[in-house]
Amino acid sequence: MRQLFALILLLAGGVASLDGASFAASYDTVTIGGRPYAAVRDWAKPNGFELKWLQRDKAASLTGPFGKITLEADSRWIEVNGIRITLSFPIALKSGQLHITPSDISNHLTPLLYPRKMAEGAKIRTICLDPGHGGKDPGNTEGSRREKDYTLLLSRELQAQLQNAGYKVITTRTKDEFPELDERPAYANKRKADLFVSLHFNSASATSASGIEVFCLTPAGAPSSHARPEGYNGSSLPGNRNDSQNMLLAYQLQKSVVKETKSEDRGIVRARFAVLKTATMPAVLVEGGFMTNPTEGRRIYDASYRKTLAKGIVDGIKAYAKLVERTE
Ligand SMILES: [Zn+2]
Repeated sequence: MRQLFALILLLAGGVASLDGASFAASYDTVTIGGRPYAAVRDWAKPNGFELKWLQRDKAASLTGPFGKITLEADSRWIEVNGIRITLSFPIALKSGQLHITPSDISNHLTPLLYPRKMAEGAKIRTICLDPGHGGKDPGNTEGSRREKDYTLLLSRELQAQLQNAGYKVITTRTKDEFPELDERPAYANKRKADLFVSLHFNSASATSASGIEVFCLTPAGAPSSHARPEGYNGSSLPGNRNDSQNMLLAYQLQKSVVKETKSEDRGIVRARFAVLKTATMPAVLVEGGFMTNPTEGRRIYDASYRKTLAKGIVDGIKAYAKLVERTE
């Protein structure tokens, strides 16, 4: 499979390293809604994908050596091998063709199709876990249930499983206390962790909401999928240096957690959360289910479910490590 990737790279003349700018230079772009867009067809072909309409002028699938991507006009949601991802900008229909922004290609597709390797001989060794909330901040509360207690329990379970798998684990808190939000990535930076994983449980006003979502930092200049105002001034944040690896890590975690827990896939989403902004290593925030959903809430409060959830996260980290540590 990887050799095939290499061949495609060769044929496509270095598509692997393209960023938005070089993509725009290599392919024709058109302006839609004031933004540059490229025809999906023009990107798909040199990357080995065959494009097929699922519904004329509305939805299409791309099938290739990497697997299958589905996209839909006027939607920010795509599916990559069955896992949902929010794009920064909606897919657009123009002149009978679906179009995607070069920014979404470089931030959402390239990191998955052409995973970047770590430096020769480098390995993922130290994982920093960040049990969300704590101390004065209970997080979501449902009756007597407090999110901060369950993120800590999940963190302990995950720590044990990661250590069994041979990783070194550090945590931003080990008890019911509240490290400031910016201190959490700062601790991971100082201890030179290779990955940062923040752990949370979700809430919604509708009790029907359920499932898993994984956040990673919003790319510079792009809107977040999260509605919370961020006071963002548009410049690049320290965490944006890892845009490509943030996405790859989020995808691998979401894929294996959904598979392991059989929970609903709410997709990979973007936010400029304080704990993600200044991490200097690939960083994600996992929302491991909804406390407000009666069925899912019961699972979250159950140690055996947290074990399964933790296994999904460990498998995702291993899958990520295998991709970035590869030597060929
Ligand atoms: Zn939380």
